[in-house]
Amino acid sequence: LEHLSATDPELASAIGDELTRERNSIELIASENFVSLSVMEAVGSPLTNKYAEGLPGHRYYGGCWAVDEVENLARDRVKKLFGAAYANVQPHSGAQANYAAEAVFAKPGDTIMGMALDNGGHLTHGSPANFSGKLYNVVSYGLDPQTERIDFDDVAAKAEKYQPKLIIAGASAYPRTIDFERFAQIAHDNGAALMVDMAHIAGLVATGRHPSPVPYADVVTSTTHKTLRGPRGGIILCNDPAISKKINSSVFPGTQGGPLEHVIAGKAVAFGEALRPEFAAYTDAILANAKALGRGMESRGLRLVTGGTDNHLLLVDLTPAGDVTGRDAETALDAVGITVNKNTIPGEQRSPFVTSGIRVGSAAATTRGFGEAECERIGELIGDVVTNLGDENVQERVAGEVKELLQAHPLYPEL
Ligand code: PLP
Repeated sequence: LEHLSATDPELASAIGDELTRERNSIELIASENFVSLSVMEAVGSPLTNKYAEGLPGHRYYGGCWAVDEVENLARDRVKKLFGAAYANVQPHSGAQANYAAEAVFAKPGDTIMGMALDNGGHLTHGSPANFSGKLYNVVSYGLDPQTERIDFDDVAAKAEKYQPKLIIAGASAYPRTIDFERFAQIAHDNGAALMVDMAHIAGLVATGRHPSPVPYADVVTSTTHKTLRGPRGGIILCNDPAISKKINSSVFPGTQGGPLEHVIAGKAVAFGEALRPEFAAYTDAILANAKALGRGMESRGLRLVTGGTDNHLLLVDLTPAGDVTGRDAETALDAVGITVNKNTIPGEQRSPFVTSGIRVGSAAATTRGFGEAECERIGELIGDVVTNLGDENVQERVAGEVKELLQAHPLYPEL
């Protein structure tokens, strides 16, 4: 940060603090990852200077030939990556992508269905606190309390009863494979469109480690910064030319202004990386590491919701550890250098600010270079901390071991 350090040391120091924080903790937040230096260079490039409302070849501004090249690279690569006929790479975030996509299929006041937030859905799938819950009449579906998996009988019964315009599949905290074909059948049997938000699992879908929604859904949205390991942002994919046209105008001018071409360049870099064979090996390691984290935590008596994981994340029920809340566990783990987030669990009795669970993900730790044995050990350490809250000896021992693990896999040594 040679220029920033000279012109704005205060801000440069804050950025340095974040780099230090990332280096000095084991990052297990399931929605985060560490981008490559190439992605960072693209995002920090002169493309941030350019206005480019419209699409490549059809802009409302002059001087767009270079950003057209950039955006076409991003679109071509993401279409290849997911086998989709059409792509819009302009959404500034996952929430923006969902806003634009939902608006194509539902008018304000129409009924939509999404997974309940406290069952693992996302705010943009119909939460009353979000635009989706305010604009649309929302019917939420959830999990079977016995299996803790998506209750497809509930989805089918509600779709038949409420005849929604749109059904949203996808989740922020669901550790199991999602059957998109079944969702499509229920939606289409009832005259609804299916939108799949694959934000969390996009990297796994890209390499075939999770079944793809692209052949079944009317529209697929995603973030680019989770398992896909790109810069923060969103994308929208579809196979139908008429829907693609509507999506494009729903993004701009419908819900956004000028696209962030520097971020789109970062997305193009990440899509290029995900097309390489190394990325498939990376996603295999994500899956193996998530299972290893789970084994470690189970060995300390914690309960995994659904009994395990098929993807990059685990939802952990802390109830067997005594009266431990997700909030207390998050704070205690932070103190020893392990970063997770508190999360509600199925049938949650506590508020979302307190919770009885934590969500743990393996994508960032895998990028950092941790292997299966280390992840199993990290799982054990999590268990040691949450089953011995307030025990300074345990905390000190775990903090020491965390430090050694971090030193074995330095983050961004080039910076
Ligand atoms: N969709 C899902 C399933 C998510 O988990 C998230 C974020 O965690 C989003 C959408 C929103 O993405 P963003 O934070 O980029 O708006």
